[in-house]
Amino acid sequence: MTQQDIAIIGAGAGGLAAAWELTRAGRKVTIFEAADRVGGLAAGFRDENWDWTLEKFYHHWFASDHDILGLAAEMGVRDKVLFPRPKTSFWIDGKSVRSEISPSALFLPLSLGATMRMALAGAYVKLSPRWQPFERVSADQWLRRWMGREAYEKFFKPLLIGKFAEQYDQVPMSFMWARIVKRSLKLGTFQGGFQAFLDELARQLQAQGLTIALNSPVERIEAAADGLALQTAGERRLFSRALSTTSPRLLLRMAPALAGSEYGARAAALKSIGGICVVFALRQQLLTDGTYWLNLPATTADKSQSQFPFLALVEHTNYLPRAHYGGDHIIYCGDYVAPTHEYFQLSEAELIERFLPALATVNPAFDRGWLRKAWVWRAPYAQPVPSLEHSRKIPDLSTPLPGLYWASMSQVYPWDRGTNYAVEIGRRAARLMLKA
Ligand SMILES: Cc1cc2nc3c(=O)[nH]c(=O)nc-3n(C[C@H](O)[C@H](O)[C@H](O)COP(=O)(O)OP(=O)(O)OC[C@H]3O[C@@H](n4cnc5c(N)ncnc54)[C@H](O)[C@@H]3O)c2cc1C
Repeated sequence: MTQQDIAIIGAGAGGLAAAWELTRAGRKVTIFEAADRVGGLAAGFRDENWDWTLEKFYHHWFASDHDILGLAAEMGVRDKVLFPRPKTSFWIDGKSVRSEISPSALFLPLSLGATMRMALAGAYVKLSPRWQPFERVSADQWLRRWMGREAYEKFFKPLLIGKFAEQYDQVPMSFMWARIVKRSLKLGTFQGGFQAFLDELARQLQAQGLTIALNSPVERIEAAADGLALQTAGERRLFSRALSTTSPRLLLRMAPALAGSEYGARAAALKSIGGICVVFALRQQLLTDGTYWLNLPATTADKSQSQFPFLALVEHTNYLPRAHYGGDHIIYCGDYVAPTHEYFQLSEAELIERFLPALATVNPAFDRGWLRKAWVWRAPYAQPVPSLEHSRKIPDLSTPLPGLYWASMSQVYPWDRGTNYAVEIGRRAARLMLKA
């Protein structure tokens, strides 16, 4: 077996960004990707009559996403990044209430005292330069204490429950700090969709000599006499170094040698939650007040007890023109649940039936005749769940298996996972590999 240079496992934003750093340093890189396209969790799909691709799971960038916007600039495509300012809202007491800073914030369904406390606590978090003190206390405790029970119960607890289900009260306040500090009112996308951006990145990388092997899941990584041996279906290849961008579970499955190490134990202890999106193409606008993102209330982690069977209702075409999608009105119904939850077991038709009636709650005029088509997307590893003092628990980018590196969503804390941080960590891992 002749030894090749560097292998990357996964052609998501992280793997592609690592390849960008490595190929530009003159290294010979091969990416192995299990799926039939690049993009990972940010990948899109396109119906026959659409000009643009649509992300399987709703995606946008913040104006503070400097790593990915910087990469777009290096690629020479920064002018294709668009930053509209869509409307975001909460569903409270049976109506849509605008959530961003706007004059309507003065009329939130809260007492004046609760509104003032929420504003003061929010400003304190936004202006706090350091996240470290916030990781010693749970968001549940901090918000309840400083923001006050009234605002917490109405606004933030439903968001935490929606995102982390039964693990909501374990998440540190540093997670909230990162969300509040990084959020921007304008939300960014790429002309043609995220898939168009990632395809362009892959195209430029291939022009720089990168090899991308699609439909090529790596089954095993093990130490060999002269580097690392990677096993794909029917082929064993030797590399000097490899970078995995997969979930902790898949890393440990591919590289069982890590399992007995302290590193392996730390990786195995990292928690995460799955994500699902049901996408509806409708013939009519659903959120007629123009809301793009509608946060829905979740009162308990048991979704069947909540008024809505999912966390967020997103009318994508209240953010981007529907002309790009053949005139369809695009709705995402998204939720986060454990991969053992029934949402991962139900058939696509059953899940669609479970979610569809909720559309009439937000718009009583909704009629099934509005539905043109529906899609179901599920990802078992969608959102890392941080815990108290989380910064001490994150495994390094360099693993104890010589030559093997790992850069995943689970390691970008205190930031919440996102393509921006996949780019940052992918490039950081690549620089480490170049130095070694
Ligand atoms: C519901 C949802 C909403 C989101 N919203 C946003 C948003 O608004 N903005 C934003 O920037 N980000 C958002 N994200 C997060 C963003 O998608 C991720 O942070 C980012 O795509 C992670 O990139 P990655 O390369 O680290 O991992 P991934 O995208 O997961 O890539 C890993 C790749 O590895 C491949 N792979 C796995 N196993 C193997 C194997 N054995 N062999 C070969 N290949 C393998 C996978 O197929 C995948 O392509 C969202 C994610 C979800 C789920």
